[in-house]
Amino acid sequence: MKAVQYRKVGQAPEVVDIPMPRPGPGQVLLKVTAAGLCHSDLAVMGWPEEQFPYPLPMTLGHEGVGTVAEVGSAVTAVAEGDEVAVYGPWGCGQCPKCAVGKENCCPHAAGLGILPPGLGSPGALAEYMLVDSPRHLVPLNGLDPVQAAPLTDAGLTPYHAIGTSLPKLVPGSTAVVIGVGGLGHLAVQLLRALTPATVVALDVSKEKLELAHAVGAHETLLSDDAAAARVRELTGGTGAEVVLDFVGAEATLAVAAASVAVEGDVTIVGLGGGTLAVGFGGGLPFEVSASFPYWGGRRELMDVIELARRGLVSSHVETFTLDEAPAAYERLHAGGIKGRAVVLPHA
Ligand code: NAD
Ligand code: ZN
Ligand code: ZN
Repeated sequence: MKAVQYRKVGQAPEVVDIPMPRPGPGQVLLKVTAAGLCHSDLAVMGWPEEQFPYPLPMTLGHEGVGTVAEVGSAVTAVAEGDEVAVYGPWGCGQCPKCAVGKENCCPHAAGLGILPPGLGSPGALAEYMLVDSPRHLVPLNGLDPVQAAPLTDAGLTPYHAIGTSLPKLVPGSTAVVIGVGGLGHLAVQLLRALTPATVVALDVSKEKLELAHAVGAHETLLSDDAAAARVRELTGGTGAEVVLDFVGAEATLAVAAASVAVEGDVTIVGLGGGTLAVGFGGGLPFEVSASFPYWGGRRELMDVIELARRGLVSSHVETFTLDEAPAAYERLHAGGIKGRAVVLPHA
């Protein structure tokens, strides 16, 4: 079968022919219908050889949706033909975090060698993919697979990030979204669907700001040195209750720090490598909380799929074939994808 693999550190991903996987006991084989391209894949492919943590070659793709093609022995929870989304942050399945579906917070997964598909295990950028347990599958309940693929990360991660801040997003509050790409354009919609907050979106690209506006942002601002002052102005001087940074660079974190209100939240989602000084004398208003959430919980993925089924959020997508995936990654790297790039392996 065809797959898109990262084969050697520093080299571009390649379309290759690899053997068709077969499900072992407890596993599920999916015929992949749609797979999203995430900016984190670019981050991973930018890591130096001495720090690269995964075995190579590695089939990419951690946003996957598919149809159950074959089940391993003892699998009864899903059957051939079921349309499912893959919950990616696989945990041990046994600990207190996993017991409540927060496998993204499982402290044992890495030690046990359990790695997410596309981030260590073979991923969704292939005609077929193996899923280690039916526990990682969430039914689509009729949602379009192309719509659903980005929800498994670009939807789930902001949903999880926003969830912690919901008590602060009361009427009259403001939420700032920095970076309106795959995650950010869904974050804007999730904020609108879940809260009465005024949503202010920042990006460096005019097209992305147009998208932000089209999906529900009340205000859009170019992400520059003047942005924080403008957020303060828009909030009558107090700043935003919640700032979600989907870039995470030094420059955007400075904007976040200068935009947040007393008792506000700064949530760093982007892997841009910046850091935020937290503590007295660090420059943040009093009582600000800072966090850097990772992906989301299994139940939260079910919630996001349900929101999409009800038409409250929708993924803005551009589709590609498997052969086009390496070029699509280049476009993503150059900032040329509006919304999410989604690969259709059987198109
Ligand atoms: P993307 O490339 O689709 O979107 C990034 C957006 O940020 C683009 O619209 C770009 O124009 C904009 N941008 C770039 N520089 C900017 C700046 N200085 N100010 C404002 N906007 C700027 O990326 P994505 O797939 O949405 O991922 C966003 C980030 O989140 C990446 O760093 C990714 O690695 C990370 N991520 C984190 C998690 C997590 O669990 N924490 C999960 C998924 C992705
Ligand atoms: Zn991702
Ligand atoms: Zn666990």
